[in-house]
Amino acid sequence: MIPRRYARIKQVLDRRQPDLTVLTEDVHKPHNLSAIIRTCDAVGVFAVHAVNRHSNTPTYSQVAQGSEKWVKLSSHSDIKTAIKHLQQQHRVYAAHLSDTAVDYRQIDYTQPTAILLGTEKWGVTPEAAGLVDGHIIIPMQGMVQSLNVSVANAVILFEAQRQRLQAGLYDRVRLDPETYRRVLFEWGYPDIAALYHRQGKPYPRLGEQGEILYRE
Ligand code: SAM
Repeated sequence: MIPRRYARIKQVLDRRQPDLTVLTEDVHKPHNLSAIIRTCDAVGVFAVHAVNRHSNTPTYSQVAQGSEKWVKLSSHSDIKTAIKHLQQQHRVYAAHLSDTAVDYRQIDYTQPTAILLGTEKWGVTPEAAGLVDGHIIIPMQGMVQSLNVSVANAVILFEAQRQRLQAGLYDRVRLDPETYRRVLFEWGYPDIAALYHRQGKPYPRLGEQGEILYRE
């Protein structure tokens, strides 16, 4: 890995926000999922969560521009498991056009937050809507009732980014040191990382310029 790439990867990891995430509920169109992942990368989301009742393997369209390599996607078996899992460390807000929804700008996104996005046609399921900590809405002034799901994701995440920039959350490393070291190696040396992974061996350490220190 050339030093410039090493510096770039570190710059991105330095800004990743492990306590800001997105959960998609049956978002099944590849271009929507791709656009969601791309925005997540842009805002510094470290991992995205997905529940897909109809397929386990999300596919990516060109909209992703390769961003799926930089944002981890975790699949969950069902929406209840996914929400309960995230609620251990986050408040989960459904982007949902309900009567109880509050304006998305009223939420404090500097706190650990997960945004639930609903499926393209039907939105968030009643089950999921009943499990989350609150509903948020992007006010609509036009004839059409809702935004495209990836657009809604972008609007909400950039408000989260605005608040987090103001609070200085991008000015210090937020990933724990072990995750940081692991991901730095995996992003810098994906093939070698896969080899070590297959052999069940820990990754070697990296030097100042990103070179592999096979012997220390
Ligand atoms: N008919 C569906 C409904 O009533 O929810 C519309 C689904 S919309 C195309 C897909 C997803 O995008 C929604 O489930 C929600 O997560 C998000 N979304 C779209 N527009 C939104 C808005 N104005 N406020 C909050 N979320 C929105």
